[in-house]
Amino acid sequence: MRKKLVVGNWKMHGSRASNAVLLAGLKEAGPWNAQVAVCVPFPYITETALALTGQLVAFGAQDCSAHEQGAYTGEVSSAMLADIGCRYVITGHSERRAYHHESDQLVADKAKAALAHGITPIVCVGETLAEREAGRTEEVVKRQLAAVIHTLTHCIGEIVVAYEPVWAIGTGLTATPEQAQHVHALLRQQLKAATQKADQMQILYGGSVKPDNAAQLFAQPDIDGGLIGGAALKAADFAAICRAA
Ligand code: PEP
Repeated sequence: MRKKLVVGNWKMHGSRASNAVLLAGLKEAGPWNAQVAVCVPFPYITETALALTGQLVAFGAQDCSAHEQGAYTGEVSSAMLADIGCRYVITGHSERRAYHHESDQLVADKAKAALAHGITPIVCVGETLAEREAGRTEEVVKRQLAAVIHTLTHCIGEIVVAYEPVWAIGTGLTATPEQAQHVHALLRQQLKAATQKADQMQILYGGSVKPDNAAQLFAQPDIDGGLIGGAALKAADFAAICRAA
């Protein structure tokens, strides 16, 4: 039986003051049956860690470098994230793939770097609207996941996968539970060919998950929780989604 996981992706939102309010709200609302985590902007990770001391809510980052260390101005290594206690790091979010031109291979290399430091990468895959409309959803997500499987080889069972159709992120459009389940089942099938751990792996759905659609999505057999953007910025909404998981 897989445990559900709900991860809040704060993206580039927040301030010390607003984060304190959000985290206090989460502390009051928990605990939940699901595993819960927040992936916050780099400057706020340490303060988030302090605020979550003694709580069951884990924390992490939204990106990491594929490099170990060195002259990479502006980058943050997995070793640094591990040093400050991060449990998770998101890799390959569609916003990074689109705005920072991250390739499938770079995403896979980042996931590898995270695992090398004991951090669980949450690897995002997902098709654009044009790709879905062209009937290319399966080809695209399989290609994205294949790069990670190829790069991580025997460690692939240690990652979390997030299926995030790009057309559903921040748009208010959500994949139907059936559409999402269809892709999740494909991804699990692909993982099964690579690892015996596939049935234990968490595959999250992301894309306009809200309190009123979370339960239906999470009820699907291969949807093991969610990666939540906009709704993770309000404690009441995020808590309701965690309750639904
Ligand atoms: C995300 O950023 O990963 C996401 C799914 O955003 P939203 O929930 O706002 O669609």
